[in-house]
Amino acid sequence: MYRLGCVFAHPDDETFAAAGTIAKLARAGNRIDLFCATDGDAGRASGILVSSRAELATLRRAELTAAATILGIASLSTPGHGDGVLKEVDPDRLIGEIVLFVRRYRPDVLVTFGPEGAPTQHRDHRAISRAATAAFFLAGLPTEYPDQLREAEPHAPSRLYYTAWDPPATGSELMAESVPVTCRVPVSQYLGVKREAFLAHATQRQHQRRFEELTMLPAERYAFAAGVPQPRSVTEDLFEGL
Ligand SMILES: [Zn+2]
Repeated sequence: MYRLGCVFAHPDDETFAAAGTIAKLARAGNRIDLFCATDGDAGRASGILVSSRAELATLRRAELTAAATILGIASLSTPGHGDGVLKEVDPDRLIGEIVLFVRRYRPDVLVTFGPEGAPTQHRDHRAISRAATAAFFLAGLPTEYPDQLREAEPHAPSRLYYTAWDPPATGSELMAESVPVTCRVPVSQYLGVKREAFLAHATQRQHQRRFEELTMLPAERYAFAAGVPQPRSVTEDLFEGL
């Protein structure tokens, strides 16, 4: 059994980017832990009446908890940074929070967005990618964030993957490209649970068309970024060869 650590920016990122993979791995007995940097307290709520950002944050945290339960995620780490302004958080602080997440939950593989910020190229996605990449390399070094060592030993995950996708067709709504795909995880059997997790994010239903078109595919795709090389150029399992 393996451990997967997921590091994303907003409640629902885990569902858009990796819900099929998470559901599949969890049901096979692997452990999945999720770090979600913001409470998603900016933006609209799909017609649900919300009177303040604080209320939206509370609602979205509850939605994330429900989606995590549906997918089989073992723990949620939610530092509650502001939605849309993640790059204004002191980078050393954000990296340190992810380093502590890695040291606590000791994932074999860490997954985050690519540096391009996923198909939406959202600035928070770009910021979390940089911070998670730095944390991947720093969490195993005892000389980094030494104050944490009272509560958790250094831990270096074996591999870092970025979420990725195939080049979009001409005329697609989102034209951003990702780093080349090196792992295609078959998830056809888990698309039902993936949609169920999406629907748990009730404030995000205005994005359902994008969700269906971009993410309800037979395989979720990733790009090898660092660590122990894959045994083949394209694999179907994030842990293959570990
Ligand atoms: Zn997001």
